[in-house]
Amino acid sequence: MSARTKGTASFSRRQFLKLSAATAGGAALVGCQFVPATASGESIDPAKVPGILIDLTRCVGCGNCQRSCIAANDLHPSQEELSTLSADTYTYVQRYDLPGGKTRFVKRQCMQCLYPACVSACTVGALHQTADGVVAVDARKCIGCRYCQYACPFNVPKFQWDSALGLVRKCQFCLGRLAQGQGPACADNCPSGALKYGLRGDLLQEAHGRIAAHPEVYVDLIYGETEVGGTSCLYISDVPFDQLGFPKLGTDPAPHYAESMMKRTPTIAVSVAAVATGIYSVLRWRSDHGHVEIDVREEK
Ligand code: SF4
Ligand code: SF4
Ligand code: SF4
Repeated sequence: MSARTKGTASFSRRQFLKLSAATAGGAALVGCQFVPATASGESIDPAKVPGILIDLTRCVGCGNCQRSCIAANDLHPSQEELSTLSADTYTYVQRYDLPGGKTRFVKRQCMQCLYPACVSACTVGALHQTADGVVAVDARKCIGCRYCQYACPFNVPKFQWDSALGLVRKCQFCLGRLAQGQGPACADNCPSGALKYGLRGDLLQEAHGRIAAHPEVYVDLIYGETEVGGTSCLYISDVPFDQLGFPKLGTDPAPHYAESMMKRTPTIAVSVAAVATGIYSVLRWRSDHGHVEIDVREEK
């Protein structure tokens, strides 16, 4: 039962989901279309999008990037969450002990796709691309349906299980810092030069230059240059990417996959999301006006 009260009523998350499902149960989906959650329709120049070049030959696994991210974004991960992406871990560093005694460290975070499947899949426009091309989350719009999670080819967006409205969270490329003329916290605090912040076009040039200068060191591939239509986080490495847990993806923009996935999504699930949106909007409005509070704690 909820221990938090405010105004006249209180809903646990389970009650909220039950209510959504019950209301949607058996409902036909007539004339409902997914509206891609693109920002304002402006075209984005892939060369001008802010990005990070991640040179895996330079990463020493110090974890400064993660600590800086936690501090910059006021995150509160548990000990277990430090080694995986979560609603409170926007980035972490994965260790690979390879045959031959090599160890490599791979920083993971949202890849900042140029054609983000998460944005395509978001039914309410919470996931969106800013005019600068950064993929961000508008917490006011998120209804916690988690379609973005299913659509993302990199398994990035994470659900906030332990917070009031249960929203999806992920790296937003330190938008606040960028607005102040700073770089992302992770890139600005990497002591080894493994992370370089800049415009995607410049970073690609830099990456090609490093590979050309040391072809005996680097694998001849920039991961993210073409995968799923291109990403703004770009990796170069001396170890083949398939040995470091990078998914083998085509060059088609990921929304293609998202749309295929959404076409296969059962009608009932779509109905639940649509009805949940409506209920959520009402509850949120009432919450904002002091009539109701939604509590996340599960009933025993
Ligand atoms: S701060 Fe730089 S060197 Fe340290 S783990 Fe992160 S990417 Fe690697
Ligand atoms: S990596 Fe996933 S969450 Fe990040 S922009 Fe691409 S689709 Fe969206
Ligand atoms: S860009 Fe910002 S939010 Fe994203 S991983 Fe780096 S520090 Fe974290």
